[in-house]
Amino acid sequence: MELSCGEIREAHIGKEVTLHGWCRYIRDHGGKLFIDIADKHGATQLVFEGDVKSEAEKLGKEYVIEITGKVNKRNEETVDTKNPTGKTEVLVSTIKLLNKSKLPPFELIEEKEKFLANEEIRLQYRYLDLRRPQALKHIVLKDKISKIVREYFWDNEFMELETPIMIKDTYETGARTFLVPSRFNRGKFYSLPQSPQFYKQICMVSGLEKYFQIAKCFRDEDPREDRQPEFTQIDLEMAFKDEKYIQALIEGMFKKIFKEAVGKSLKTPFKHLPFAEAMNKYGSDKPDLRYDNFLVDITDEAVKSNYNILKRVAENGGRVKAIAFAGSKYGKESKINEAYMLKTIELAKSFGLRGLTWLYVKGGEIRSEPQSIADSLRPSEKALLKKLSPKEGDVIIIGSDLSERLLLDALGKLRKVISDHIGIYGSEFSFLWVDEMPLFEMDEVTKKLKPAHNPVTAPTPETEKFLESEPQKVMSRQYDLVLNGYELGSGSIRIIDPEFQKKILRILGMSDKTIENSFGFLIEALSYGAPPHGGIGLGLDRIVALLSGENNIRDFILFPKNKRGELLLDGSPDQIDPKRLKDDFGIGHIEV
Ligand code: ASP
Repeated sequence: MELSCGEIREAHIGKEVTLHGWCRYIRDHGGKLFIDIADKHGATQLVFEGDVKSEAEKLGKEYVIEITGKVNKRNEETVDTKNPTGKTEVLVSTIKLLNKSKLPPFELIEEKEKFLANEEIRLQYRYLDLRRPQALKHIVLKDKISKIVREYFWDNEFMELETPIMIKDTYETGARTFLVPSRFNRGKFYSLPQSPQFYKQICMVSGLEKYFQIAKCFRDEDPREDRQPEFTQIDLEMAFKDEKYIQALIEGMFKKIFKEAVGKSLKTPFKHLPFAEAMNKYGSDKPDLRYDNFLVDITDEAVKSNYNILKRVAENGGRVKAIAFAGSKYGKESKINEAYMLKTIELAKSFGLRGLTWLYVKGGEIRSEPQSIADSLRPSEKALLKKLSPKEGDVIIIGSDLSERLLLDALGKLRKVISDHIGIYGSEFSFLWVDEMPLFEMDEVTKKLKPAHNPVTAPTPETEKFLESEPQKVMSRQYDLVLNGYELGSGSIRIIDPEFQKKILRILGMSDKTIENSFGFLIEALSYGAPPHGGIGLGLDRIVALLSGENNIRDFILFPKNKRGELLLDGSPDQIDPKRLKDDFGIGHIEV
């Protein structure tokens, strides 16, 4: 019988089997040669003796073979308990060489996972990397989740619709777009979608009512640690539904994913947190609520203390904030010790926060290294202990800065880093909706208003009146979904009045010409009876990564780009022959 390499069990003992796969692990023990034959499903130990052994000696790592042989029981001492096929082995009678292989540039053997080759080489030879069960597992889980997602939305009467990949160069998320020159239309360009946003809205105008897509999105951003220039989004839009419906729908999707993909039950509804509270309490618009160490304002206490650095900041209009870390158990033997805290101060500096101090609690009192810091805070000690209510051994960090925004951002990041290091979580998965956010935010660099989410998000009816007078007071109908401190995605209820849409774009500083040129087609579509609608986009790669307990989304993308945005597999991006650029696209000299 023909079986996969992961299928053989004790029940097959005595049977004749045919297997095909790759020669993964080869050991010659003199009289016997052993090869682990592997495929997508697993690995089986093959045994070669006699004539067939001489034939097998010619095989090399990753050669592709087909064998037939008899399934035998392994000796007790040689049973591989880690492998589901490990109680058996196949005594090979015939070998057929299907293809040879060059020697792989790195080991593909699972036991050697700890000697994992460097990522760049694995990305260049991603097809080999994917033969490692650990790498494959991530891609398999993504496929499983995609199937669950599709079934869920189909069952809820959504249609999977394909929006175009080559589109007009518009402005959506604030990221840059990738451009594609057109050969037939000289001097003209398509752009790649940052998301299907405008097209899914136009589907609503068409009356398609419930749209979803597992959509590729393209953003020409700095390819930072956890960003990819192309990624996959679970993208939705629906007509005649409000925030509550959309959020309940998404919660239902996650319930199904958790149950069917990882066998876990998930509590719904998810928590909600207003944006302002998220920022003030956790210093982040995507707080990790698995731990509840939060930021406490101690500016008043700092003024009353003798700690000059804090006093000065407080007296000059800055803020002083502190976080007590429950369970940190400060001490020489602990993960949270003096060396770690000194490193934390350096980390704070890299976030732009120069004023960071730390204390700890011992014998019910605050202590510091050197003790003079705690002594200078003595006049406020009672008040501090009351406000922060730390337990014995807890570390407290105190940050101060003239810019409250900088202080919140830096403390928010430190809160996550230190809490992750302590590693005490309330629950494994903490979902959270962050909402009640402003429609606009100020761009720190250009000092111009920009949309907090996207320019098609509707304001709340109660705050719309501030649009012209105090636009920063206008609140939006946006909602972000956060899991364990990562933003999974955002959505909103959209603007459906074409004139109002134009008004928003003007407030964002666009001229009528730009509006017409970039958004004309959307505004025109909205003018033909656009129904009330809203939707959401959620990062699929991130969802699968977090469900696997990993942070790096590159592992969940079939052929990912590296941190420089390069696809090492094929060497792109690459230069194009200048002659071809000129002849096909009329593009002349390019500066590099
Ligand atoms: N288009 C949005 C994004 O990609 C998602 C949405 O609002 O539906 O972030």
